This record gives sequence, C-alpha cells and structure tokens, in this order.
Amino acid sequence: MSHVLIIGAGGVGSVVVHKCAQVPEVFSKITLASRTVAKCAAIAASVKERTGVSVAVEQVDADNVAETVALIQRIKPDLVLNVALPYQDLPLMDACLATGVAYLDTANYEPPDVAKFEYKWQWAYKERFEKANLMALLGSGFDPGVTNVYCAWAQKHHFDEIHTLDIIDCNAGDHGQHFATNFNPEINIREITQRGRYWEHGEWVETDPLSWSMSYDFPEGIGPKKCFLMYHEELESLVQNLKGLKRARFWMTFSENYLTHLRVLENVGMTRIDPVNYQGTEIVPIQFLKAVLPEPASLGPLTKGRTCIGCVFKGIKDGKEKQLYIYNICSHEEAYREVGSQAISYTTGVPAMIGAKMMLQGLWQRPGVWNMEEFDPDPFMADLNKYGLPWTVAEL
Ligand code: NDP
Repeated sequence: MSHVLIIGAGGVGSVVVHKCAQVPEVFSKITLASRTVAKCAAIAASVKERTGVSVAVEQVDADNVAETVALIQRIKPDLVLNVALPYQDLPLMDACLATGVAYLDTANYEPPDVAKFEYKWQWAYKERFEKANLMALLGSGFDPGVTNVYCAWAQKHHFDEIHTLDIIDCNAGDHGQHFATNFNPEINIREITQRGRYWEHGEWVETDPLSWSMSYDFPEGIGPKKCFLMYHEELESLVQNLKGLKRARFWMTFSENYLTHLRVLENVGMTRIDPVNYQGTEIVPIQFLKAVLPEPASLGPLTKGRTCIGCVFKGIKDGKEKQLYIYNICSHEEAYREVGSQAISYTTGVPAMIGAKMMLQGLWQRPGVWNMEEFDPDPFMADLNKYGLPWTVAEL
C-alpha cells in the first residue's frame, strides 16, 4: 500500500495515472502534479470515470526544488514518478534527496541549451542516493525501459554472450496530421536532429543525422519499413552492462512525409534550440514550434495502426550461434479505448507504472541510481504480459 506522486500531466502522465489506478493493491493513493493543474484535473476526471478511483491533484513547478520539497513534505509520497520533461530530472532528484523519497523517470536529463543525451549527470547522483539509502530508477519507459529489460532477459535466459544488439522502434500508425510528434515535440525533434551514433568494438562511431537506413520486415502483417540509425540513450548503459557485446545500434522508422517536413523546418531554422530576438523578446524557435504543433495528448482519438518495438540479438549459447527477436506490438486504437491515449504514450506509461510497482513491492530495491537492465528482468517481463504490453520471442 503506497502513495505515488506522479509529476507531469502530459500524454505519458495520463497513461501512468490510469494504469496505477488499475493496481490499487500497490498504488493505494495517487497524486498527480503538474504546472497546469487543469490538465491534472481532466486526467483525474477520466480516471474516476473509467476506474472509480479518486486521484488527488496539485500544482507544482518541478524546476523549483523548494516548491517540490514543500509539496513532498506536505503530502508524503513513497515515490516520485517523473513524467514531466528531461529538464526536470535533476531538480526532482534533488527534491527526492532532500525529503528521503524514492525516484523514477523515463528519459535521461538534458540541459536545455545543448541537446545531449547522456546519463553522466544522473549517474553522478549515485553516491548521494546510496548514502541516503534511497533508490532512483532511470529510464522506465519503453525505449529506454522495456528494451533494457528485454536485454537483461535475453542475457539471463538465452545467451552466454550477446554479440550484436539492434533495437528497432517502428511506429506503423498514422494520425492523419500533416506533421505532429507522438511525444513532446521539443524533446522528440532535439533527439532526431542530433548526430547518429552507434557502438562497435568498444568505441562510439558517429554518423550524420538520419544518414544511415535499412529496411526491416516487421512481423504480424506490419511488413517492411525504412528504419534510420539514431543515437538513443539506452545504448550508453547497455554497452556497459551486456556481456561480450561487440556492436549496439538503435533504429527508428520515419515516413517520407515526416522527414520532408522535418528537413524544411530545420532548413528554415525552426528547430534551433538557441534563443533568437523577435521584436525585442527572446524566443527559442523549437519552443515556438511546439506551441503551434498538435499536443501529443490530442492525437489519441486520431491515431490508427500499431507500433512494434523490439530487440534483435545475435550471440552464442552453449557454443552455438543464435539469433533472437523480442518485440511488443501495441495498437493505437486499443490503447485509446483503454486509457484515452495513443500507443506511444501507452508504451511509455505502462512500463513507468510497472517500474514503480517493482520498487514499491520491494522486487527491485537497491540504494543508488540504476538503469533497468541491472535488475532481475523476470517479474517485470511477467507484468508486461499482465498489464497491456505482451511480448513475443522469435528465433530467427
Ligand atoms: P508532454 O509534453 O505531453 O507532457 C509533459 C508534461 O510535463 C506537461 O504536461 C508539462 O506540464 C509537464 N511539465 C513540463 N515542465 C514542467 C515543470 N517545470 N513542472 C511541472 N510539470 C512540468 O510530454 P510526454 O508526456 O509525451 O512525455 C513525458 C516524458 O516521457 C518526457 O520526458 C519524454 O521524454 C518521456 N518519454 C519517454 C519515452 C520512453 O520510451 N522512455 C517515450 C516517450 C516519452 P504542463 O502541461 O502542466 O505545463
């Protein structure tokens, strides 16, 4: 019986709250806090209607450590589940240390003025969390998150050594908009427009943004799609934690239409993250762009089709070569029917709930700052099947 404080009333936040409400035996009290309390109230109303569970709502600016500390001291949660933006990771970890509360997030910290996806800022908190006898779990979404757990599970049950890893993220859905991102546009575009990077023979190899592609034939009728090599944050911890790894890459599908819009926006300067002076006011073009694009949460009723995210492994078991593909397929329409959100928010929100459940039930419990593959994957894999993200394993 635990009290969870969820921070961030966006697309992912909405799914997390709905899913926690479905597991009252673990999440006996739920508080949702965000900058805009009206968004929290709308989510709470939907949860009440769908599950009968009451969710408390609060206003907080999570960039302000003192404000979050005051909120935590007043409502006394057992865990802070951060699904605001990556910029809030460090202030929220500071607030957790100041109040002695456990922490979980789904995306690594980024400084607002440089698009850098690195765990170093959060890993630097390890000793402080250890000394405070507190746990912080990093990246409990789908990718990072479930992909890391797939790796730990493959390593535990199927391989003596994993030699190559390809994480492949396919959104075969369509929202019918000219251009929209499925999660926070600012974070999404910063991620996609950075240089590509993969790991081979102990070194990082850089590529120009979206300059490498391959076609992958996705299962269960999804079929072949073009995938682009990108850098993705889970690679950083996985190359340290997987035994015998020789190469690790991350791929994502994009439609020609999406890429054409992105190219134009980049070419005209709309994806810049540095401030420009407009009629005496400083504005950051990418933040202005976010304001005119559809809210990810508004895409729920519009999105049709499925996502397919998984890991392809090659390695050795009992002296023999082996190839394995572990994946989940998630339907945008079914996610919308269940919790009122599209599958991108759903595939992130469900693992965030399960990660919190692992910690609160004591199944994953170790002081310090940890990535997902550092824990026993079995209870998490079992819960994926139970709470809406069933997985399939195929020998290739
Ligand atoms: P949204 O933009 O829909 O929601 C973010 C929410 O955070 C907004 O409601 C916003 O508040 C709130 N917020 C922003 N700044 C603050 C602040 N200073 N204090 C309090 N609340 C704040 O984004 P998503 O829901 O799409 O994404 C949420 C997180 O999930 C992101 O970090 C994203 O990177 C991560 N993610 C992870 C994935 C994974 O697989 N691991 C996949 C997809 C997303 P308000 O509206 O109230 O102003």
